Amino acid sequence: MDQIVKHLVKCFKKRTILPYLLELRISHTCNLNCIHCAGVNKKINYKSALSLNEWIDIIKQAEKLGIKECLVIADKEPFTYPNIISLMREIKKHGIYGKTTTNGTLLNKQIFEALIEIGWDCVNISLDGPDPDSNDYIRGKGAFNTVIKNLKLLRDIKLKKNKTKPKIIFNTVIHKRMFEKIPLMIILASKLKVSSVDFHPLSVWFPRIKHLELTKNQVSCFDRIIEETKNLAKEYNISTNIDIFYERKWEYEQKQDFANQDKNKEDKMCEKFFSLPCYLPWYFISVQEDGRVNPCHTLDSGKENIRYKKLEQIWKSKYFNDTRQSLLSKKFFQKCLADCCVMQAANHLRLYNKLRSLTFS
Ligand code: SF4
Ligand code: SF4
Repeated sequence: MDQIVKHLVKCFKKRTILPYLLELRISHTCNLNCIHCAGVNKKINYKSALSLNEWIDIIKQAEKLGIKECLVIADKEPFTYPNIISLMREIKKHGIYGKTTTNGTLLNKQIFEALIEIGWDCVNISLDGPDPDSNDYIRGKGAFNTVIKNLKLLRDIKLKKNKTKPKIIFNTVIHKRMFEKIPLMIILASKLKVSSVDFHPLSVWFPRIKHLELTKNQVSCFDRIIEETKNLAKEYNISTNIDIFYERKWEYEQKQDFANQDKNKEDKMCEKFFSLPCYLPWYFISVQEDGRVNPCHTLDSGKENIRYKKLEQIWKSKYFNDTRQSLLSKKFFQKCLADCCVMQAANHLRLYNKLRSLTFS
C-alpha cells in the first residue's frame, strides 16, 4: 500500500499516469469448490488462451513500461496453469516483484524449491479459519490439513536453505463459523512462519452464503476481537490489517456515500485527484487469460486485447482514459456498485485516507 501511495504521489507531481501493478489472470479452473467462491465461470477453451510466449512478451512490455509488481492470479486457482513456474521465472528475470495468490493445496516440494530458486517474493495463501472445522466448511474436506502440511514443508525447506523468500501471507475471510477464532490465525501464522494475516470481509455474492454473515452479537463484539488479535500480532511479530475492521467501512452501502462525499467541495484538480472513489485505473492493469485487458478485473468490457495492441497503447487508450474520467467526476459504474469486491472498497478508503493525510494535513 505504501509503495502505491508513493507511486501515485510521484505521478501526480509529474502530471503523468504510469502503471505500477500488473495482474495476470492465468487460469479459470480450480481443484476446490468453495461455497463462497466468486470465480467467474468463463467459457474459455485453451485454444483462445494466451500461450506462454504471449505471456512472456507481456512481461517484457511490462518491464519497459516500468511496472514494479506483478500479481500472478486466476479467476480460479493459478497453480492449475501448467506453465506457472516458467512464467514466474520470467517475471523475476525482469526484476519485477512477484506475488501470487493460491488456495495452497496444489503446492509441493518441487514447486517450493523452484520458487526459492527463482527468488519469488510473496505467496498469499487463502485459509478461512485456524482449524479444519472452520476452514473446511467453506473450502471442502481435507483442505485445511493439506495446506498446513504444505506450509510446514515450505517452512522446513526455507530453514534448511537459510532463505526468507517467498514471504507467506494468509488471506482469511471472516465468517460466522470462525469469528471467535480470529486471534488464533495469528498463532497459527507464527507456528508456520507466515509473516502476515490479511483479513477480508465476506462478500455475500449469493444467497447460499448469507448464513455465514456475522450475527449482530458477533458484530457487537468485533472491537474486542480486534484488540485481542492486535495484541497477539504484536506479541508474535505478525503483520495484520485487522485495524480496517474498526470502522466497518467496507460495507457495500458505504461505497456510494464515499463516492459522493467530496462532490460539493472545491473543484480544484488536486482536490479531485486526492478524493477519488477508486484509484485502480491510475496504477493497475489486469490481463485476462484470453488477452482482454482492463483497468480492473470487475470492469471487463472486452474493448482492449493484448493480441491487437501493446500494453502501453492500452494504458493510454480511450477506454482506460474514459474510465479515469468517470472516476474523476466521482461517478461509479453500475458494475462498481454491484460487483466490486467489498475488500476493494476498504482498500480504496485506506489509499484515499493515506493520500489525503500526506497532502492536506
Ligand atoms: S480455491 Fe479459490 S478459486 Fe478455488 S473454489 Fe475456492 S475460492 Fe474459488
Ligand atoms: S469495480 Fe471496483 S476496482 Fe473497478 S473501478 Fe469500480 S470501484 Fe474501482
